[in-house]
Amino acid sequence: KPALTAADVSFYKKQKRIVLEHCGRIDPEKIEEYIAVGGYAALVKALTEMTQDKVIEEVIDSGLRGRGGAGFPTGKKWSFAKNAESDKKYIICNADEGDPGAFMDRSVLEGDPHRVLEGMAIAAYAIGADEGYIYVRAEYPLAVQRLKIAIQQAEERGFLGKNIFGSGKDIMLHIKEGAGAFVCGEETALIASIEGRRGMPRPRPPFPANEGLWGKPTNNNNVETYANVAQIINKGAAWYRHFGTAESPGTKVFALTGKINHTGLAEVPMGITMREIIYDIGGGILDGKKFKAVQIGGPSGACLPEELLDLPVTYDSLTEVGAMMGSGGLVVMDETTCMVDVAKFFINFTQSESCGQCTPCREGTKRMLEILTRITEGGGSESDLELLEILARNIKQASLCGLGQTAPNPVLSTIKYFRDEYEAHIKEKHCPAGACESLASY
Ligand code: SF4
Repeated sequence: KPALTAADVSFYKKQKRIVLEHCGRIDPEKIEEYIAVGGYAALVKALTEMTQDKVIEEVIDSGLRGRGGAGFPTGKKWSFAKNAESDKKYIICNADEGDPGAFMDRSVLEGDPHRVLEGMAIAAYAIGADEGYIYVRAEYPLAVQRLKIAIQQAEERGFLGKNIFGSGKDIMLHIKEGAGAFVCGEETALIASIEGRRGMPRPRPPFPANEGLWGKPTNNNNVETYANVAQIINKGAAWYRHFGTAESPGTKVFALTGKINHTGLAEVPMGITMREIIYDIGGGILDGKKFKAVQIGGPSGACLPEELLDLPVTYDSLTEVGAMMGSGGLVVMDETTCMVDVAKFFINFTQSESCGQCTPCREGTKRMLEILTRITEGGGSESDLELLEILARNIKQASLCGLGQTAPNPVLSTIKYFRDEYEAHIKEKHCPAGACESLASY
């Protein structure tokens, strides 16, 4: 094996690998290797030593929050589905990872699929579900293949399927391949897609915990959330709270991409600063260039400037500056990146992915894209910034689902932190990053 380089050491030194601990270390296609590292012990412990309420209590005490983006307390979510009266309940794993630059869930599914299945099975036991679905992108063929192998192996051993571990409980898990619509990451759209309908969000309430898949109580968490569960059950909530902060315990997996020296997956304790992630783990900016911004939270997120690099990365601190954790995409930008162009990229993404059922999202994002295109081509006027802000406010307030409600965030954050770049495009017909070539020809 090649020797560990200094770059390797700095990449791993500040990481704390809980979710990714087995990725690259065990053969994901051999259940024996997962069992050899303690796999499925947490499920056995839950089934034999813990009541459903005790499992939920442990997860509530751990402070685990949904890693898909919104950060809702996981145990509390489970308790809603557990307390819903029904003869049938479902469990869903959202593996419809769609943020540009994000590949956390894909890597977990490809590298340690049993870990996700075990977390789902524990959640199914806790809420009283006997069936579930993993909604995974069809563009992730290796993840799909490894999930299929993992489910088959777990069923052969009696870890999944009928009467698991002789407990009298059934947990049947299925795979549903999604066709790549970003909006299907929204849970009601995802449920519609599993049911064979067009993947479009619907108003809530009723919430899926009460009326989810085929009208039955359903719990939905994402891949990374489920991948934390086995260790919480094995080692306890107090152990989990050793990592992270009081309000954001545990770790978060980020996909580090963009103009950075070391790209890849970094799992870090919550509360670490963005500067530590970018400079200590990521090795700083590529080619010695100057840092300009980091985009966190995907198309729902924000572009943060240098003055916020020392902000601790937690759910609440990010919300305070108008950003959000998101699912874990981190795109680093340097001095050659035009922030107006970045805003245009993200609004172009969300307007193409809008399901189109509500006017503010469908039409408003189109109008924002038109304005941003005009500005990057040199035709912007001084009233355009105000117009963008009015449109953003209306889209956020009047859209039905999270896609529309958060779509203006990259535009608002770039106007807030990089207003001078917008003004240079509009007033001087000049792109400070030198990226918008057609400015002068408008
Ligand atoms: Fe569809 Fe956008 Fe409305 Fe969401 S906000 S339901 S994506 S049109």
